[in-house]
Amino acid sequence: MQISAKDLGWLKTDDFCPRCFWITRHDRKLPYQTPFAGIFSSIDAYTKSVVAKHFERHGRLPDWLGEIGDVKRLVKVKPSEFRTEKDGTTLTGIPDELFQRPDGTYGIIDYKTARYTGNQDMLMPVYEVQLNGYAYIAEATGLKPVNDLYLAYFEPPAHDHFDELTGRHTTKEGFEMPFTPIIHRIRKDTKEVASLLARASSIYGMKAPPKGTEGCEDCQRLDELVKLANWK
Ligand code: SF4
Repeated sequence: MQISAKDLGWLKTDDFCPRCFWITRHDRKLPYQTPFAGIFSSIDAYTKSVVAKHFERHGRLPDWLGEIGDVKRLVKVKPSEFRTEKDGTTLTGIPDELFQRPDGTYGIIDYKTARYTGNQDMLMPVYEVQLNGYAYIAEATGLKPVNDLYLAYFEPPAHDHFDELTGRHTTKEGFEMPFTPIIHRIRKDTKEVASLLARASSIYGMKAPPKGTEGCEDCQRLDELVKLANWK
């Protein structure tokens, strides 16, 4: 089985369902899948390009990422090489930014275009595993030690600032939207990644789908749908 560091993070959430996991891992083409809007990956790609160009010109991160500290170089990794295997499961994923400090240690940043709500963010457990998953892969492929993990949130402006901003950021060619950066540090815990990988492998290896979450209305509806489809 192959799993991305982000998907592994879902195993840490309160409403993780092993049955759903088993089904989606054994059949990747489920019906009724909603296509995901590509705008956020475009913003992330643009952010990476801005940071890379700034580093190329000035040899340091932009001031709005200054909280992250000194960086000697940005490290480019190839998706085909940035992966590792444990207990028959391959862990994959490409961090938005992997960098090396002047002292030789490494750090990782992941960009999030979202309003920052700190540990109230329901997705924080997923992000913690995602970042630690990248660190796990980096260290397994020789880029070690990874000491620092960060989420860099880019917050869109609040509604009550729209009036003042629209005049300043509208041009003949179009308009710009200023984002406010907020840095959130993630605690390193790659041991948890290893135990989640073992759990993912053991669910995937089951011969039949395990029981679902008790009382899940979606599964009850699915049973009704199957009965209806088989009605003669
Ligand atoms: S119990 Fe709910 S979450 Fe689990 S497989 Fe069924 S629909 Fe999915």
